[in-house]
Amino acid sequence: ITYIPHLDDTDSQIVLGFFALTSDISDRKAIERMKDEFISVVSHELRTPLTSIHSSLKILATRKLGSLSSKGQRMLQIADEQTERLVRLVNNVLDLQRIQSGKVKMNKKACNATDLMIEAVQTMQAMAQEQKIKLLVEPVSWTVWADHDYIVQTLTNLISNAIKFSPCNTTVWLSATREQQNPPQQPTITQITFAVKDRGQGIPSDRIETIFERFQQVDSSDSRKKGGTGLGLAICRQIVEGHGGQIWAESCFKEGSTFYFTLPELINSE
Ligand code: ADP
Repeated sequence: ITYIPHLDDTDSQIVLGFFALTSDISDRKAIERMKDEFISVVSHELRTPLTSIHSSLKILATRKLGSLSSKGQRMLQIADEQTERLVRLVNNVLDLQRIQSGKVKMNKKACNATDLMIEAVQTMQAMAQEQKIKLLVEPVSWTVWADHDYIVQTLTNLISNAIKFSPCNTTVWLSATREQQNPPQQPTITQITFAVKDRGQGIPSDRIETIFERFQQVDSSDSRKKGGTGLGLAICRQIVEGHGGQIWAESCFKEGSTFYFTLPELINSE
């Protein structure tokens, strides 16, 4: 703080308080930044050896393991599953850090909304079939201005969660709606709202906003039981906000959830 207050001047003392607060905030920001950098360096250093351990375990698991007892095979399977989880965690941390730092350039172009939903559904079809969950897409004819790969990743994350947190023999629906706003004396804004709806376990109302923050899970044992990392929704939020959109959820505890996000419509595309 370079400001020297006149002690007999009350206004100056108020201003000094403001500087102290600013300095406190910037200290906290610096600490946050250092923490993020530390996590990212550690994750980066972990990725190469972890990927190599994971590939070796995969090769071992697919060979005929006559010499291994059933207990040995089970241990190999656990090692494989847990390494896969670590690889996922490290990749998620790095993804989030890259997007957050603004180093990632969104490659935006015209994308058909239905094609984005169908591509994400195709990616998740095997997981859905395994859990006996039906994935349905309601086709629409709109075009959005978006980075194709990142939006497919966002939809994929939301579908993956919907499957993970739903019972067997239920359906997950994907749809999109169009909203038009006409601000006075300004060009009309149209945006497309995507929705991923499930009939799963739902989210308690006091957690509906915090789940978009890093490492926030309604049930902390989910990362072990369901292989989650608590980073998926934080990544989705960064991607959507990088498109100037918003993401939120509505849910009825024990009845199901709907996740929404908005993207700008490509004007004059129809
Ligand atoms: P995770 O890797 O745990 O899925 P996410 O950031 O994607 O991390 O989600 C954070 C938490 O939000 C989840 O652990 C879960 O508690 C809750 N959640 C997300 N999607 C759903 C859903 N469709 N139904 C119920 N809970 C959900």
